[in-house]
Amino acid sequence: MATAKPLPAGLLSSARFVASPNHNTRPAGCEVSLLVLHNISLPPGQFGTGCVEQFFCNRLDWHAHPYFRNIEGMEVSAHLLIERSGALIQFVPLELRAWHAGRSRFEGQANCNDFSIGIELEGTDEQPYTDAQYRALVAVTLQLQQRFPQLTDARIVGHSDIAPGRKTDPGPAFDWDRFRAQLAQARQ
Ligand SMILES: [Zn+2]
Repeated sequence: MATAKPLPAGLLSSARFVASPNHNTRPAGCEVSLLVLHNISLPPGQFGTGCVEQFFCNRLDWHAHPYFRNIEGMEVSAHLLIERSGALIQFVPLELRAWHAGRSRFEGQANCNDFSIGIELEGTDEQPYTDAQYRALVAVTLQLQQRFPQLTDARIVGHSDIAPGRKTDPGPAFDWDRFRAQLAQARQ
């Protein structure tokens, strides 16, 4: 059956939804107007482990790897994760406030979680992202821009842009020129 089922508000049909408890509501009157790109891999540099999903759902076994001691007890999330294959996982409905940016500021406005959507790319700062990830990111960005008109190209940033000195992701591995060119091309 090809009939699309109506989805709950704020869920993307292109994503597999895995509910994260790490969210709350956005402040009243706060519109989505910023897209923040991140990277994550757990353990760092290892892909496809399922650990990111567990981490965002507070189900990660802190004893499973020595690195996990550094993140033990953290309660974080992102709206979306793009895996190396390009597969999309959604953790928080778009209308709700995910916990990805932390202490942050964009053009004088603090607490970017209030007014942003966070996308995690499975990866590291140094390792090239996959073609499938760029394709998936472009596709989902277009969907988000249709849904949230204030989310202009100029308001797509890296975590490092809104938390400089504290965060480095998505890192030098992320090819902004390529992403913006593919985004422009996809609109034609
Ligand atoms: Zn980040």
